[in-house]
Amino acid sequence: MPVYIGTPISGTIFIGKVKLLKQNKLPDFPKFIDKKQVDDELNKLKTAVGRIEQSIQTALPDVGLTQLDKDILNTHLMILTDIEITQILETTISEQLMSAPQAVMTTFTKIIHNFEQMENQYFAQRADDYKDVAQRLVTTLVGTQDMNQLSFSEDEIIFLKDVTPSLVTKLHKSGAKAYCAQHGSYTSHSSILSRAFGMTALVAKDDVCNKVHENDTAILDAENSYIVINPDLEQEKSYKNRLQQRQKQQQELQIGLELPAFTKNGVLISIKANIEYPSELTQVLDNHCDGIGLFRTELLYLNRTDVPDENEQYAAYSELLQKLNGLPVIIRTFDLGGDKLTFLQKYDKEDNPYLGNRGIRFSLQEKALFKIQLRAILRASAHGKAAIMFPMIICADDFVAARKIVQECMEELDKESSPYCKDIQIGAMIETPSAALCAEQLAKVCDFFSLGTNDLVQYTLAVDRNNDLVAPYYLQHHPAVIKLISNTIKAAHKAGIPVSVCGEMAAEPAYVPLLIGLGITDFSINPHKVPELKAIVRNCDDELYHKIQNFDFNTDIATLENLIFNTLKPYYSIVS
Ligand code: PEP
Ligand code: MG
Repeated sequence: MPVYIGTPISGTIFIGKVKLLKQNKLPDFPKFIDKKQVDDELNKLKTAVGRIEQSIQTALPDVGLTQLDKDILNTHLMILTDIEITQILETTISEQLMSAPQAVMTTFTKIIHNFEQMENQYFAQRADDYKDVAQRLVTTLVGTQDMNQLSFSEDEIIFLKDVTPSLVTKLHKSGAKAYCAQHGSYTSHSSILSRAFGMTALVAKDDVCNKVHENDTAILDAENSYIVINPDLEQEKSYKNRLQQRQKQQQELQIGLELPAFTKNGVLISIKANIEYPSELTQVLDNHCDGIGLFRTELLYLNRTDVPDENEQYAAYSELLQKLNGLPVIIRTFDLGGDKLTFLQKYDKEDNPYLGNRGIRFSLQEKALFKIQLRAILRASAHGKAAIMFPMIICADDFVAARKIVQECMEELDKESSPYCKDIQIGAMIETPSAALCAEQLAKVCDFFSLGTNDLVQYTLAVDRNNDLVAPYYLQHHPAVIKLISNTIKAAHKAGIPVSVCGEMAAEPAYVPLLIGLGITDFSINPHKVPELKAIVRNCDDELYHKIQNFDFNTDIATLENLIFNTLKPYYSIVS
């Protein structure tokens, strides 16, 4: 029973069967064929087209599909059965003697190239539909896994090389509950999404994917960072016991979940939710969150090939606000870039996307697109307590530039007599060292701050948050990070504006007492973690505040580690 080491990403313990996911890499196939193989190759093409057509026809009546999903599938059907394309493919096979997959690649590459050259953005974006169809055709012809056609049973653990936010979403939608990836890191968006979907996930340190076999029994132990393959009976029994204990502990944490969270010395701590998709609302309500502290709207763009228009966004935001029934919903404007790349990024590939055209920079450059979102949020603000938050702010100037565009949208809506909340709160993510250092100036132009520690750590320590090779350097408790957090909190308190933490640090039990001691009274976390957080809050007391307020953060990493992982442990040990 081999045991491998992993990095925990999400969940606790999962016992299941190995399911290998072969990604992207196509096996070698012959480019050219003999004349006598032509009929065979034409038949292969016909069968592949037929199979995809049938699977699309089967998927179309699914009630879970949005109108947009259906439009995309119908476009794919149209491309697949296009007579002109079929004829070109057939002649390429019969006259140029290309194999079916090669004929698809050659023909579609030309079509895609022509679309991409078009000035009109609408047509240029159609290239993506052709890319999708070409990929499905080629993967069907050469027999690799078609990522659009995944389906898993509840007890399968998906072993795969890389995960992206869109793949995690596909895995979740296809029924997967657990996965083990070869590459990944705790604060990547794929990992954040995995936690939001309640999946169990680990990143394997060894080349595990090449060592396991389909249908092996596997245990993902995300608590102790182990991946156990084909456990003996004793091991399996002990893991099953632990799983039961965890379930019991979760039930105990439900006690008092509906009540507000006060520290022992009477400080009310507000706990809001981070969400990526409006469909996560059930978890928000079930866990009695005090609102939504971070709605990562850019995820609305994933897995689609067009821009959600103003009305579609308005409908999504309004529905959320109405369902939250007066609780605050902080809508972060699109934070595209980094690992959240979409077709919208039409520029050449950037060498350093995380230092490039992302977040508010992208929005300020693409003003028309930005205004669509701002108008949609403002209109939706008539239906509940909405707030706007800008990502990747580096100083007061870019915040003011963005705020001016909100003002412009308000004036337009006034002219149209369209209702909106005139004193909507507008805040900044504090996720760059410069924003944290300029917090005093920023506080004069912002209505609130939200500390995005995922990026703050990345930019302060110059450590890529997605790169597992440098994961040991990604220290959320590095003194430089804590000093920036503390500076931000002090500036917010001085200016009298709210400050929250919405990065993953806020959901990690070990950091919660430290953040509370530093003066944080507002957390925004994955809704699944609210029961744990409430239990820790209720354990914090006057002495904790005293310890932190008197602590000298001009210190080294080891001293801080001692404070967090030893001195403060009694405050969070109830959940660990
Ligand atoms: C952060 O950077 O901490 C944050 C909350 O934003 P994101 O994880 O979406 O970059
Ligand atoms: Mg961020």
